[in-house]
Amino acid sequence: MAEIDAWIGLGSNLDDPVKQIKRALGELAGLEQSRLHAASSLYANPPMGPADQPDYVNAVAWLKTSLPALTLLDALQQIEREHARLRGRHWGPRTLDLDLLLYAQDVIDSARLKVPHPGIAERNFVLYPLAELDGELRIPGMGSVADLCAHCPATGLKKLEVD
Ligand code: ADP
Ligand code: MG
Repeated sequence: MAEIDAWIGLGSNLDDPVKQIKRALGELAGLEQSRLHAASSLYANPPMGPADQPDYVNAVAWLKTSLPALTLLDALQQIEREHARLRGRHWGPRTLDLDLLLYAQDVIDSARLKVPHPGIAERNFVLYPLAELDGELRIPGMGSVADLCAHCPATGLKKLEVD
């Protein structure tokens, strides 16, 4: 099967988030039939939803993969489980959240998988890392990442200096 571009959003705000994100990037790089083409910087970001939780660390990974979208989602959820993710309240703290942001230019609207990931256009912690990797990237039905950034302030988002 041909290789396509898949974009993954990573987020963590528990148990040493920087370490969680770095480990997850390594695990994404090791996925079968896939390779990690590029990864954004890590960004610190105030929590969305309940404010009584630690800041998030977010990043975006660009994969080249020949896995079908649902198989890729299975693999992402397996990685989440390996990070002992606590599924608590909606938008509550988590050790690792992996979202399939884009899968080529496909539009998918099934019970388990919605692509482009809902909320992508309003989330600066998704848009700015995406723009770092490819500002010309198009989100189906929404225009380019650079255009979306122009309408979404980077308020609160802080690029982290980590090696
Ligand atoms: P959120 O990421 O919105 O904070 P969760 O990670 O808890 O919430 O949501 C997980 C659920 O979202 C899973 O059951 C999964 O099937 C569903 N889902 C739908 N679309 C996607 C997507 N594009 N990427 C990841 N999970 C998705
Ligand atoms: Mg998620």
